[in-house]
Amino acid sequence: MLYGRLNLASVSLGIHQALLEETVRFVAHRRHGDSELRREPTVKQKLGKMNASLITARVLAYHASHMLDEGVPCDAYLMNAKLQNVEFSLDSARTAMEVHAAHGLSADGRLERLVRDAYHIYAPAGTSDIQRLRLAEAAMEAPPHRSDWSELLAGELRSSAAALRAA
Ligand SMILES: Cc1cc2nc3c(=O)[nH]c(=O)nc-3n(C[C@H](O)[C@H](O)[C@H](O)COP(=O)(O)OP(=O)(O)OC[C@H]3O[C@@H](n4cnc5c(N)ncnc54)[C@H](O)[C@@H]3O)c2cc1C
Repeated sequence: MLYGRLNLASVSLGIHQALLEETVRFVAHRRHGDSELRREPTVKQKLGKMNASLITARVLAYHASHMLDEGVPCDAYLMNAKLQNVEFSLDSARTAMEVHAAHGLSADGRLERLVRDAYHIYAPAGTSDIQRLRLAEAAMEAPPHRSDWSELLAGELRSSAAALRAA
C-alpha cells in the first residue's frame, strides 16, 4: 500500500501527459476551412486547463515521492497524490474527448485507449471515495495514524534511500 498509491499516481501522471500530447497533436493538424483549431480561444482554454491540471498533479506526485525517499511520515500525501492524479487525469480525459469531438469516439484512435487507461487507475490501491475517507480519518485522528505505513517503515525507508545514494 505504501508504494502502491505512488505507483498508481505515477501511472496516472503518464496517461495524463499522453492525453495532453495527443490533444495538442490533434489540434495542430485539424482545420475548419481557413482556420486552425489550435487558434480557437475555447480550444486554448481547454488545453490550458489540461496543462495546469497536469503540472499540479506532477508536483503532488513528486512531492509525495520526495517525502517517501526522505523517510518522513507522508501517508496523507501519498493518498492525496493518488486521489488528485486520478481525478485530474479523468477530468483531462473528458476535456480531451470534448476537443476531439466525434474523432474521440473512434475505436481505432489513440485517445479512446488513453481514456480507458485513465479509468483503469481509479480502482487499484483504493478508489477516490476510499482515499477521501482515509484523508478524513487522518485529519480527525491524533498522530500517529494507525494506517501510517510511511511512519511504521520510516527506518527501513531511510536506510534504503541512503544505500541508493551511496551506490
Ligand atoms: C487495473 C486494476 C489493477 C488491480 N490490481 C490489484 C492488485 O494488484 N492487488 C489487489 O489486491 N487488488 C487489485 N485491484 C483491485 C482493486 O484494489 C479494487 O478494484 C478496489 O479495491 C475496489 O474494489 P472493487 O472494484 O471491488 O469495488 P467496491 O469496493 O465494490 O466499490 C464499489 C464502489 O463503492 C465505493 N465504496 C466501497 N467502499 C466504500 C466505503 N467504505 N465508503 C465509500 N465508498 C465506498 C467505491 O468507491 C466504488 O465507487 C486492481 C483493480 C484494477 C482495476
